[in-house]
Parts: sequence; structure tokens; C-alpha cells
Amino acid sequence: MVFTGQGKGKTTAALGMALRAAGHNMKILVLQFIKGTWHYGELEALKKFDNIAIQPLGAGFTWKKENLDKDRELAMKGWEEAMKAIESNTYHMVVLDEINYVLSHGLLPLDNVLDFLKNRPPSLHLVFTGRNAPPSLVEMADLVTEMVAVKHPYKDKGIKGQKGIEF
Ligand code: ATP
Ligand code: MG
Repeated sequence: MVFTGQGKGKTTAALGMALRAAGHNMKILVLQFIKGTWHYGELEALKKFDNIAIQPLGAGFTWKKENLDKDRELAMKGWEEAMKAIESNTYHMVVLDEINYVLSHGLLPLDNVLDFLKNRPPSLHLVFTGRNAPPSLVEMADLVTEMVAVKHPYKDKGIKGQKGIEF
């Protein structure tokens, strides 16, 4: 499953999937590629579920040209975590939040990622989120939803990120 597009709702849609699966006693892992030390409500909320694990991997990303190698290294570390989790056969669902962003910025080799995914356990549900999902990922996915930004409180009214809505 891929949630992409410029509109809000990609990460929250993925967390909704995790919630739905959790209700069936499935085991879910959420790996967050970009998010670092910010205090997102979902980090607290998901602690209440013993079958959902959530792990932020984004601390240290700089997004600066001069630090590209370091960002690549961090992205690779995150992807290694993801591969381990996928191969472990422990989870029914793995959410890779914001990985599309990492892929579209060339911080991870897309072909290697897609090749690896071809051999994933067949019953595993995988959810990819983030803007600019690469076309080859879109082609491989079974479900792709593009969020369209019709209105956004920040873009249209300058309203800053709100607790419970953005974080
Ligand atoms: P959410 O985490 O709320 O589901 P998202 O995953 O779709 O949003 P991202 O692309 O990860 O959104 O961006 C993170 C934050 O940027 C969101 O919390 C959000 O409200 C804000 N954002 C998303 N779309 C827009 C937009 N079109 N204009 C301004 N800010 C936006
Ligand atoms: Mg997001």
C-alpha cells in the first residue's frame, strides 16, 4: 500500500491501517524515516498497544547538501532495520513512514529496495508513505492513494501546526 501526494493524511492513514490491524491481534511495526525527536502524539498513543511497535529513525537527518553522505548513511541504517523486520516474519504489517521521501531524494537505492521487496513474506502487509512516491514503487503496489491538498490551514490561513492534528 502506498499513500502519497501533496495533501495531508498520508501518515495518519497509515496509522489508521495499523490501528485496524491491531484490532485483529495482528503484530505491527511502524518505522518512521524522517521524524526525529519531535513529540508526536502517536508515539505516546501507540505505547498503549502491545501489538504495535513504533520506532523513529529520523534523528540526525540534516537535508543539507554538504551532509548528503551522512543522510544516506542514516537512511541505510533505517532500511537495514526495515529489512531485518520484514525478514523476521514476526510482523503482519510493517509501515515505512516517509520512506517515499527518502527514496525520491535518492538517499536509498530504489532498485535494491524494490528487489528486496519482491521476496518479502507473501502474507506481510507493507505500507509506504510520503510525497513523491517513485513511479516504479507505484507500479509494484496493489493499493495507491494520492492525497490531494484542497485546503490546508497553514497554506491558506497561516495557522501553525496544531496539537492532535499535526503532531
Ligand atoms: P499527517 O501526518 O497529518 O497524516 P502527511 O503525512 O500527509 O500528514 P507529510 O507530508 O508527512 O504529511 O507532512 C507533515 C506535515 O506537513 C503534516 O502534519 C501537515 O499538516 C503538513 N502538511 C501536509 N500537507 C501540507 C500542505 N499541503 N501545506 C502545508 N502543510 C502541509
Ligand atoms: Mg507524513
